[in-house]
Amino acid sequence: MTTRLAVIPGDGIGPEVVAEVLPVLDWVRARGRDLAWGLHPWGAERFLATGEILPEAAFGALRDGADGILFGAVGDPRVPDGRHAEGILLRLRRDLELAVNCRPCRPLQEAHLPLKGVAAGQVWIEVFRENTEGPYCLKGTSEPGRATDFAEHTEAAVRRLLEAAFARAAARGCALTVAHKANVLKHGHGLWMRVFEDLRTLHPAVPARGMHADALLCALVQDPRPFGVIAADNYLGDLISDLLAAFQGGMGVAPSLSWAPHRPFRCTALAEPVHGSAPDLAGRDLANPTGMFLSTALLLRHLGWEPEAMALEAAVAAALREGAATPDLGGTLGTRAMGAAIRSRLET
Ligand code: ATP
Repeated sequence: MTTRLAVIPGDGIGPEVVAEVLPVLDWVRARGRDLAWGLHPWGAERFLATGEILPEAAFGALRDGADGILFGAVGDPRVPDGRHAEGILLRLRRDLELAVNCRPCRPLQEAHLPLKGVAAGQVWIEVFRENTEGPYCLKGTSEPGRATDFAEHTEAAVRRLLEAAFARAAARGCALTVAHKANVLKHGHGLWMRVFEDLRTLHPAVPARGMHADALLCALVQDPRPFGVIAADNYLGDLISDLLAAFQGGMGVAPSLSWAPHRPFRCTALAEPVHGSAPDLAGRDLANPTGMFLSTALLLRHLGWEPEAMALEAAVAAALREGAATPDLGGTLGTRAMGAAIRSRLET
């Protein structure tokens, strides 16, 4: 059956970085993969012009008609309450049940790792971030002089995330660390730790421990080498993965893949760079497309196309090694030139 991808460029620098990876999809097809892809217009521009965010029929078409989604970014200063971003990206994560968000940190260049005495090749951390609930569930109240944010955690989602994290740590033969603040967030993170203890007995071969998130951040900066898989809720996972983005060159480099391990729908994955829409860079040919390329590789791997995923990651590594760099990496290449530099290293 033809594998179908939905491409949503979105807002800000999203369309610019997505444009650079579209030829990669053609390259995958040229290698004999039965792949089709189509562009979808959801984002601020569409919302401001028509009032549409992500109509039901369009959501259904993504859920039942695509195998995966390649996503740029959403967020636009003209929509200050972020209503459309919530209705597009957060909705896709939640309603496609993309419970696991993996954000790998594997620095490709010594110069990108700002830590003394640590070599790039010694760091390989994957953050497994719960993607659908926790403090980012967007429930709360605002009244004069008082505001409340709720953080809802369900055993089903926590178990799904931690099972995926244990499975990954077991497959890699590496340590698993669960970031939490159960000492103060007694209810939500208390639930996390109960599920964690339960799963730990099922995976005796995985060296696993819980760690207070604040102490974890300190330890990561002092020495990231002992860490393998780090599992966390939505909020802590966001913070930890942005710190780890700094170990691999910054926000422009870090990739992510969200997926639904239980495969409830045809569409089981969404790949997007860790960065947002960066309105300060939009339309200026300044955005680094590397995170988008590496996210595309993660999606190709999820689809079972390992040789293409590896070739794409190798092309990124070769381009960086040979000095290709956008301004955020200290170089002078624009988005398009950086994209071309990476694609030129793809084997034909
Ligand atoms: P979000 O909440 O959606 O994650 P954010 O407010 O954290 O978004 P980003 O859009 O991720 O912000 O960007 C933060 C800053 O990082 C940008 O203003 C920009 O300077 C830099 N940045 C982000 N993405 C890139 C990129 N691809 N290339 C270069 N710099 C980037």
